[in-house]
Amino acid sequence: MASDSLKPCPYCKRTPDVCELAEKHGWYQVACLNEKCPGKLVSEAYGSKRKAIRASTRFLSERAHICKRLHDFSVTHHVLWSGTVVWNDMMRYPDLPPDSKEKPLYPPHKRNTTNEFQIRYLSSAQEAYLALALWNLLYDDSKGTKGHLRKLAERLLECRVRSKDFPIDSLKDCLSFLGDKRSAKAFERYRHRRLAHLGTYEETKDVHLNSDLIYRLVPKTSYLFEILKAELGRVPEYTENQWSATGLMTAHFFSHSGKDELLFKLFQSRVLPSEKYRKAMRSFISKRNRRERKAREFTKIGKKPREPTQ
Ligand SMILES: [Zn+2]
Repeated sequence: MASDSLKPCPYCKRTPDVCELAEKHGWYQVACLNEKCPGKLVSEAYGSKRKAIRASTRFLSERAHICKRLHDFSVTHHVLWSGTVVWNDMMRYPDLPPDSKEKPLYPPHKRNTTNEFQIRYLSSAQEAYLALALWNLLYDDSKGTKGHLRKLAERLLECRVRSKDFPIDSLKDCLSFLGDKRSAKAFERYRHRRLAHLGTYEETKDVHLNSDLIYRLVPKTSYLFEILKAELGRVPEYTENQWSATGLMTAHFFSHSGKDELLFKLFQSRVLPSEKYRKAMRSFISKRNRRERKAREFTKIGKKPREPTQ
């Protein structure tokens, strides 16, 4: 049978080796032992050579299916994090002082009105679009879709052929964080009751999404994508560099002197275990709120001296 022959290693295309486990007599493993292989896949131990070969072949094709589906999500993932950078800067108060030597896109006196407009009108549209991307990546269970990111990760965990450096614990931790039922419910409500009605004139009341949820989920979702990509594609994503560059590029459009360091720090903490990540998240929210409150106060005080007194 075809399934009894070894499938070549997907990374170096060489035929892997079936070997008896050194420490266990009568137990076999399939492994790619090619020194230059970037994947270095190893199967679990099986009671017979034939079983090991069959399992390895089956799991390799499952990995190929997961990898194909993951590819579909590349664009959505990109749109999600870059959209988050833009959305965050849209809502940030301008931090370039009126007499700044930096060249902003708009003259100083226009910045605050522009920013008010952004916060009031544009940010909620951007927010809806981010919520839709998150819904797609994490929760969309509807018929016809071939599984969201969390499903793919679960399927990959069931595959008994893995790279030697596959971070199983980090993946499980990430999944338990993202699988939080309350977040899932909030997004489901928002998706079904609000976004689904965007094309009609029906009024959709009382469906709000706590925007902190977006901050909470985006970095971890990105981390999940990176783990899957690293395991299946064996190509690093360099998301951190991309994130930083996008932040710098976006900042000036919204009269900021640089990228939002607080948000960048939150993004960097995505690799932390979920307990520590939650702490980083809470610290981000409170620092950010404090910063924005201060910026608004400054604007009010700053305006006063320009008005003629007497
Ligand atoms: Zn190989």
